[in-house]
Formats: sequence, structure tokens, C-alpha cells
Amino acid sequence: MSTTTAVEPQYKVLIGMEIHVQLATKSKMFTGAANGFGGAPNSQVDPVILGLPGVLPVINKRAVEMAMMVGLALNCQIAPHTKWDRKSYYYPDLPKNYQISQYDQPLCGPGSIELPLSDGSSKSVRIRRAHLEEDAGKLMHEAGMTESLVDLNRAGTPLLEIVTEPDLNSPEEARLFGEELRRICRYLAVSHGIMQQGHMRFEPNINLHIYHNGKTVKTAITEVKNLNSFRSVERACSYEIQRQLAEFLANPEVVPSQGKSTRGWDDDKGMTLLQREKEEAHDYRYFPDPDLVPLHVDPTWVNDIRPGVVELPIARRKRYQEKFGMSAKEAFSLTEERDVADLFDQAASLGAPVRRLTNLFLGPAAKMANEAASAEAATVLISDLPVTAQQYAKLAELIESGGISATSAVPVFEYLVKNLNADPADAAQKLGLVQVRDQNQTEAWVMQAIAANPQAISDYKNNPKKKQASMGFLRGAVMKASQGKADPKLVGEILETKLNAAAADGA
Ligand code: MN
Repeated sequence: MSTTTAVEPQYKVLIGMEIHVQLATKSKMFTGAANGFGGAPNSQVDPVILGLPGVLPVINKRAVEMAMMVGLALNCQIAPHTKWDRKSYYYPDLPKNYQISQYDQPLCGPGSIELPLSDGSSKSVRIRRAHLEEDAGKLMHEAGMTESLVDLNRAGTPLLEIVTEPDLNSPEEARLFGEELRRICRYLAVSHGIMQQGHMRFEPNINLHIYHNGKTVKTAITEVKNLNSFRSVERACSYEIQRQLAEFLANPEVVPSQGKSTRGWDDDKGMTLLQREKEEAHDYRYFPDPDLVPLHVDPTWVNDIRPGVVELPIARRKRYQEKFGMSAKEAFSLTEERDVADLFDQAASLGAPVRRLTNLFLGPAAKMANEAASAEAATVLISDLPVTAQQYAKLAELIESGGISATSAVPVFEYLVKNLNADPADAAQKLGLVQVRDQNQTEAWVMQAIAANPQAISDYKNNPKKKQASMGFLRGAVMKASQGKADPKLVGEILETKLNAAAADGA
């Protein structure tokens, strides 16, 4: 502990996350109304969504399967028996006056994931549960209007609520967990995970264990509601830590209440604001929904969906580092999106040299995808470019065998993007980039460079300090004379022979 100012005591941060993930099913959780973003207000609505009398909900089988896939990915136990409960509250965006959720028998029970951290280590984060429920609609309070507007398109959308144990110990870990969960959901194709469209909403539960006068003081837990960006998760957690610490320091002898309070996040002000205090489960009057039968999950059903749980990003990053010798950063970039990683694996499985392939993906391919993004769409992935695994494999092989230089890979790749199904070797030929390994031709280029640079020759011969640099300079001059077509390895060999001969001559 610091002894200089003794202002800040030692403390531990505990953060548990609640995450609502919107599942990308075709229809809603308990009815056939379309589930999608961007329709005209109140166009994705039917009598069930409107809560009209005489209608009955029906379980969306696909939503249950998607929830189980996430459960399996998070190593959760899948409950053989689960049921539906009504969570009662009145709000104009919820016409039935209750939300159908799962209270005491969630579909997915305890699990855990091994979360990679920024320093290269990882930590186990326990999952408490994950259950299915339905979303509410949206209220719009427009400036200058005396009424509020209701859009029920989102009402009834399937939500998977995932709850972790308080195993995250910093705002950064909370953010990393959210990002990893998004990747997992996108790999499993259970959610588009578009943050701007509210596909994932985060609610961190934060408190501190402060070591004070030989005792541990636990601050009251606060839950920050409805965060829809990773940045706001990190910022809100940081703010809460400082706020709880300041509250404790202002009155260190008062034992904090053990109740839980709910706070909202003001992104502009960068602070949380108190919304509700002491909210208990019984306030919601949970009870089993009499309109829905309990759900029995047969083990064969679980086994049927298991193949859909593909190799997840964490495992894939590890494989890329261990099997392909990639750096952590390279493996991370290539596995960020499943389609990109699939394309990479496909090209690698064709026998392409992996180092060349990695450089192609992270060099020219990433660059062209980025350029296409600014011009056409918000995001263009490498896998959206019209270059096939076969073309990647051939191009990587062409570089590896010395057919073209690594530098020439850039224009050849650009040619492949602009000319559908072109053969990389033909492209190199057309662009005049085929590497020349003819001994006589290379010698001619070397002699041309030597003749044009007497100063560098003199430095090489007479100044040991400049020997290395002048060699590099001359190598560049030869490559330039050949317009990039000379084989750098052969150039180096010939250049060294000629220079050493010249030095021995003393000419
Ligand atoms: Mn919920």
C-alpha cells in the first residue's frame, strides 16, 4: 500500500455482466410476425404482439436452438426441463403488461469461458445462467411534441439474457468479455451483433471490496442499465468505480447498504445517474405462464444442434498461433470474422505457404477491403472481395517459388480483384511482373547499377563503416534497374561476387 498520501485504499473491483442478445430468427419469440430491423413503424406486429384477447403464444423452436448453441459455446449445462414465466410490469411499449421470460428454470445453467486478456494471459469467467425472453417495443419522445410515439416492431423479438458471475475485475475485462461474446454469437450466426442497431445491450453490476483498517468493506452493487457500445461499458465501469470509492472515502465508517441500485449512463456527461433503488424480484410478481407448456429438452435434440457450434474464435486464434506460427496480433485479425477465417483455412488447406498467405490477407487484401468500405458500404470484409481460396493459394505459391517478388503481390492482387477469376500467373505476366532469374540478364542489371553509382562502390571498398549501407543501396539500384523484376536473392549473390572482385582488384 502506498504510504505517501494515503488517500486511496487498496480495493478489488468486481463486475458481473448481464447481456441481452437479440437473436436473428426470421420470426418473433412467440408468434410468426417478422423479426427484422428497419421496417416501417408498427409493421412487424400481429395480435399476439398487440396483446389482444384470445390469442396464444407459440414457442419459436429456432430461438431455443440458437440459445442452446450459445449455451454450449459457453460450456453451460443445458437444462432437460425448462419453463416460461410472466414478469409483470406496466409500460406502454409492452401491451400485454408482462414480459415472457424464464425465472427459476433457465434453459442454460452454469458454464464458463476462458477469456483472453490483453497481456496474452487468460482468465476463467463463470457463466451463471442464460435464459430466453422477449424484447419490448420502443418509445420515442421527440422534441417539440406533446405526445410520445410507440413502435412495437421490436416487441416480442427473441432475447437471450446471459448472466456472468462477478469474475471480471476491471473495466477493460468487462469490455473484452463483451467483445468476445459478440464474436462468439456472430461465429454461431445466432445474432448479427450490430451494436448500432441494439443487437447487444450490456448491464454491468459493479461493486468494490475495499480493505480498510484490517477489514473488507463491500460497497453496494450498482447495475448500469442498457449500455449499447463497448466504449460505454468500459467508461461506465470506470466511472462507477471512482464514484463508489469517493462515496466510501467521504464516509469510511458508515457501513454501505447491501441493497442494489440501478443507474443510467449519460454518455455526453460521462457519468451514471441513479434511477431506482432496491428493486426485488418479487416486485415483478413472477409466475409460470399458463399459456405455455414447459419445455422438455431431449439429449438427442442437444446432440443434433451440437455440430452447429463451430470452432470458436478463441480456439481458432490459438490454432493459428500454434499451427501456423502467427503472432497473437495476426491471429486476432484473421479470426475476427468467421467468413475471413474460413477463407483463410480453405486457402491453407490447398497447401498454400501460410506465411505468404498471412501476408496477402493482412497486406493487400485488408487494404483493398478497407478501401472498398469507404466507397461502397460501411464494412467490407476480405471475404467479400471477389478473390477465391484457389486464387489466394496460387498467388501465395507464386511468391514462395520466386515467380514474383513480394512487392509485386500488391498489383497482382489488385488485378485479381478487378478481373474476375483471373489466374495469378497470367496476371503477373500481363502486368510484366514475372520475376527474372536469368543469370545473364541479372548480371547486366548489376553492372548497370555499379556503373551508375561510383560513390557507393568507393564506399564499399574503402569505408568499412559504410560497407553494409552501400550494399543495400546498390541492391535497391539493381531492383530499380530491373523495374522490380529481378530476383532479390540472385541479385544479392551476383552483387556480392562483383563487389568483392572489385575490392580485391583495388580498382
Ligand atoms: Mn432481461
